[in-house]
Amino acid sequence: MDFAKKLKVSPGKRVRLKHCDPGETFGYAKDDETRRLTEKAVARMDALQALLYAENKRALLIILQGMDAAGKDGTIRHVMSGVNPQGCRVTSFKVPSHEESEHDFLWRAHLAVPQRGEIGIFNRSYYEDVLVVRVHQLVPEKVWRKRFDQINMFEELLAENNITVLKFFLHISKDEQKKRLQERLKDPQHQWKLAPNDFGERKFWDDYVRAYDEALSRCSTDQTPWYIVPADHKWLRNLAISRIIAQTLEGFHMKYPKPSFDFSHYKIK
Ligand code: ADP
Repeated sequence: MDFAKKLKVSPGKRVRLKHCDPGETFGYAKDDETRRLTEKAVARMDALQALLYAENKRALLIILQGMDAAGKDGTIRHVMSGVNPQGCRVTSFKVPSHEESEHDFLWRAHLAVPQRGEIGIFNRSYYEDVLVVRVHQLVPEKVWRKRFDQINMFEELLAENNITVLKFFLHISKDEQKKRLQERLKDPQHQWKLAPNDFGERKFWDDYVRAYDEALSRCSTDQTPWYIVPADHKWLRNLAISRIIAQTLEGFHMKYPKPSFDFSHYKIK
């Protein structure tokens, strides 16, 4: 299946997340065949990343957004399993530091944009500035509302500089979130970083849905579309995302540069 085509938000289309099924499987099952397809996509990513690095002409930026516990960290672990860490950089966007908040909202993101030959992954991103910032009214509406156009212009700038931006919204249901948060409460690997506030954001679920509906509608463009990934099933999420990344890298039609020296008669003594 062509996941990119299926999950892409058509530019100009008004997104209503409540009409997108987070438990969709598109006829796939959690079985050996799905595992094989996912592994194949991950292996393709590995080979293509080596080419991206060698060619050194362009970069790929992968943006992951989603409600708490949507699977951003799990996706990164999975995507990273398929690439050489030397050519990949992950940046997590938290509440802005004092220095960051002294700049415009795109400043910290621009600093973290991958350089040519690299894959960059954003765990959250400047989209937080039209999501959490909107839900909690951290700046006036007239400020965050202008940001949709500013984001589109920023992404256009990146695209024109050979930086392809892939934006994935990991779509989970409220019930699945509850299940995952309950699991975290019991899991020592997670307990240490839990704060009471992590569960408080659930109260704002509908506000976040409204904010996401608008962000995904306003900022899905031909050059940098959004993909809405059904994410209640982690295996489907991993399959869809690795296939879209591999397909995108393949679409670059990259070639290894010609060797700078003729090694055909070269002997290693
Ligand atoms: P995560 O949930 O991503 O694993 P944290 O628990 O540290 O990591 O959460 C990061 C927090 O930072 C989130 O609540 C997110 O909404 C918040 N955040 C990110 N960017 C901004 C921003 N620009 N303004 C305010 N809060 C932000």
